[in-house]
Amino acid sequence: MKLFKKKLFSAIQPSGMPTIGNYISVLNNLVHIQDKFDCLFCIADLHSITVRRKSNDLSRSILDMIALYLACGFDPNQAIIFIQSHVYEHTQLSWILNCFSYVGELSRMTQFKDKSIRFSNNINVGLLNYPVLMASDVLLYKTDIILVGEDQKQHLELIHDIVIRFNNIYKKLFVLPSSLISKTGSKIMSLLNPTKKMSKSDPNTKNTIFLLEDISSIIKKIHHAQTDSDNPCSIIYNKKNKAGISNLLNIFSSFSGKTIKSLENEYANVMYSKFKHDLSDFIADKISCLQKKYFDFRKNEDYLQNIVKSGAEKAQCQAKITLDQVYKAIGLPVKYY
Ligand code: ATP
Ligand code: MG
Repeated sequence: MKLFKKKLFSAIQPSGMPTIGNYISVLNNLVHIQDKFDCLFCIADLHSITVRRKSNDLSRSILDMIALYLACGFDPNQAIIFIQSHVYEHTQLSWILNCFSYVGELSRMTQFKDKSIRFSNNINVGLLNYPVLMASDVLLYKTDIILVGEDQKQHLELIHDIVIRFNNIYKKLFVLPSSLISKTGSKIMSLLNPTKKMSKSDPNTKNTIFLLEDISSIIKKIHHAQTDSDNPCSIIYNKKNKAGISNLLNIFSSFSGKTIKSLENEYANVMYSKFKHDLSDFIADKISCLQKKYFDFRKNEDYLQNIVKSGAEKAQCQAKITLDQVYKAIGLPVKYY
């Protein structure tokens, strides 16, 4: 008997080298979830062009991402991985959903406001419409569960509003997705400014630990990460008053599997430098192992291209069914040829 599995969707932008934030909340969960759910992993290249980047960098980053998924344990026989721009239904549905979304609600999104400040010379419409394309990514596959970091919570609420608005008119066509956000590590903060989320597109690279950077550079960044100026120092989780050490505790817990409480006990009365030293050891170990696997997969571009070709075919079969249903529901003629 074939067991019914829920459908899980997750996406990452090829907007630069992935960070430990992306790893902890999304990539590191692959191995555990891909046999429990019907998984679709999307390389969201159309999302990534909301910020200007060089064409060579973009095409290279896409293949980097596929190799990284494989290094993290992605199994192409179990799950589907595909490039968003290869499945045209995403942009097609996105236009339709634009007509069910309001400028007011889009302009209230924190990500739009943040990126409008960071990229103030290029506040393009794509930046504003980002959540509508994200809604299309998810809804095309009748997704039950979206695997994301905490920064995407507001977008998920907006997707719910769009679904309810659409379903109220057109008879429950879309599935209302729920989110899977890990309990620890769902929002890793910047190393030098722990009130701001770590991002792969942050122009200040000292804020970010990249998965593929030199281990010696990672260790240096951890040692320079902001802690607190209290004396004597105390390694206690308190997001509001001790944002720096709380962020490092979160990272340590995610990499070591130890709870934050047990780390607080283990490092009571210990200097920040010793704590950072041990944290560096854990990260260096895990990341160097991941990098080794990554470089093995990255060498074989034909294999990577085959995976995305077959992924796009499988994803498109599903996407087309939903798009046809949407066309019929709203009265657009379905193309039968
Ligand atoms: P960009 O700066 O280009 O937006 P990003 O680092 O935010 O890059 P995305 O590709 O936008 O990465 O997001 C991929 C996934 O990683 C999303 O599910 C997102 O919620 C999650 N994520 C992003 N940043 C963090 C973070 N700092 N901590 C935990 N999860 C994160
Ligand atoms: Mg992002």
